[in-house]
Amino acid sequence: MDIQKNIDEIKSQLPAETRLVAVSKFHGVDEILKAYDGGHKIFGESRVQELIEKQPHLPEDIEWHFIGRLQRNKVRFITPFISCIHSVDSERLLRQIERQAARVDRVIPCLLQMHIAEEDTKTGFSEEECWKLLESNKWREYKHIQLSGVMGMATFTDDEAVVRKEFAKLQAFFNKVKEHFFADGPHFKEVSMGMSSDYKIAVEEGSTIIRVGSNIFGERE
Ligand SMILES: *Cc1c(COP(=O)(O)O)cnc(C)c1O
Repeated sequence: MDIQKNIDEIKSQLPAETRLVAVSKFHGVDEILKAYDGGHKIFGESRVQELIEKQPHLPEDIEWHFIGRLQRNKVRFITPFISCIHSVDSERLLRQIERQAARVDRVIPCLLQMHIAEEDTKTGFSEEECWKLLESNKWREYKHIQLSGVMGMATFTDDEAVVRKEFAKLQAFFNKVKEHFFADGPHFKEVSMGMSSDYKIAVEEGSTIIRVGSNIFGERE
């Protein structure tokens, strides 16, 4: 795998406003450094244990994004350094991030993970649940969280039309939420969608952050 070449190729296809999170889960420090040495600084991990093992061995100016399911009792391990949490799927998790971010005096950008796929296995809020959370207005008291947008994973299928429909639905929901709750909130601007198999469709549907792993680092073992 020519990691740098893979990253350059993906980046060359992205609009200026769309960022790439290189998903380095299951890959070692050496492989991450190859990407870093080529100039890439944004990496994504989906397990707390794996992330906190690798992070101390890597340059401090890496922007780490947490993209996997996050247990509340593990939040405190990542709040000292994490740049963005893509996978907020409950009010309780949000509250825990607030509490732990306050302890280290940081403000952490967080995305609300939406369940957009047909598969039940994928996690996230339904639109109704998410709307309810936002209407409760509790999040407005959370001074150490910056709600920055939404995240979603499409159904794993070859049927492009299904994937496109799910991404379009996420984009539409984002627009609705932005207009209703964040009209004065310039930070609410991210739509995190698109992985190796579907990032091209996601970009066409307005993704601002794509999360790509295997197309950069190769298949995971
Ligand atoms: C693993 C993972 C990715 C990257 O998947 P690839 O298919 O390897 O690009 C993206 N998003 C999430 C949430 C992941 O867990």
